[in-house]
Amino acid sequence: MRERALGVVLLALGGTISVPGQARGARLSGAEITAAVPGLAELGVPLEVRDVHAVPGGSLTFAQVLDVVADASRAVAEGADGVVVTQGTDTLEETAFLADLVWPHDAPFVLTGAMRQPAMAGADGPANVLAAVRVAAAREARGAGALVVLNDEVHAARWVRKTHSTNPAAFASPSAGPLGHVVEGRVRMLLTPPRHEPLPADVDRERLETARVALHVVTLDDDGARLDGLEATHRGLVVAGFGVGHVPDVLAPRLGALAAHLPVVLTSRTGSGSVLRHTYEAPGSETDLRRRGLIDGGFLDPYKARVLLRLLLATGAGRDGIAEAFALRG
Ligand code: ASP
Repeated sequence: MRERALGVVLLALGGTISVPGQARGARLSGAEITAAVPGLAELGVPLEVRDVHAVPGGSLTFAQVLDVVADASRAVAEGADGVVVTQGTDTLEETAFLADLVWPHDAPFVLTGAMRQPAMAGADGPANVLAAVRVAAAREARGAGALVVLNDEVHAARWVRKTHSTNPAAFASPSAGPLGHVVEGRVRMLLTPPRHEPLPADVDRERLETARVALHVVTLDDDGARLDGLEATHRGLVVAGFGVGHVPDVLAPRLGALAAHLPVVLTSRTGSGSVLRHTYEAPGSETDLRRRGLIDGGFLDPYKARVLLRLLLATGAGRDGIAEAFALRG
């Protein structure tokens, strides 16, 4: 039975949206952030605001994000229509995907933030919060998993990237485009993302702590010397290869040797598009690397692949389970 009046729960973390500016005192609370949003009270959506983890996006941990998802999940189980999370934009593309992987509800889990501080001219936080609450409460957005709403665009956590360091239009989904838009206050969903069985959210915290996954971005003339001994310190590796998933020929045997000890996932460093599976044959090509045991990351960018691999390792998945999960979600 529902115990809560229908509405939206807003969980406020840190980030630019909460930074009052130099010499202006402490970080803004969730109540202060929402009080500054024109039109929010008139929406007619009951809003319950809670403060959690007031840290910059760059300091968030997997464990904290899973705690936020658990809070959000409880709110939905108690009757909330949807949840909004405000946070720093630096890690939004990763936290959103982590939440999406474990989010079991139809109710929207919406993440937002701001590129400009509240005291700056053209601050984008208020408009982003307003749009995020509209999406969280919208019937149209149900069943779409975790969504990222900024600049009146609705992005799937699965595809969204932060593509600019300062521009308020920083968030884009280069491989797919936005799922929807907020137009004249209406949530217009144009696409529905594919949904998969959620992964378990109740991850053992010690296991999560030790499920370290490294990311190696391949660069010109890269011999991969810094990967030496990685199997002793990490449980998995994501390789951000050139273009369609290529590495220098000299690096291929090193990656193959690592793949004998831990899961190594191949992605592209380009920022959009997928890695290939069987188009090129040269040493260091995608075909060669797959033969050497690397797992195909598909369309997942390096950062999202790292999130998925760490979560899988933390939930005890073996190599086959990991390969299957990447085949399904990559
Ligand atoms: N450095 C900030 C953060 O992620 C940037 C932002 O919020 O836009 O906390």
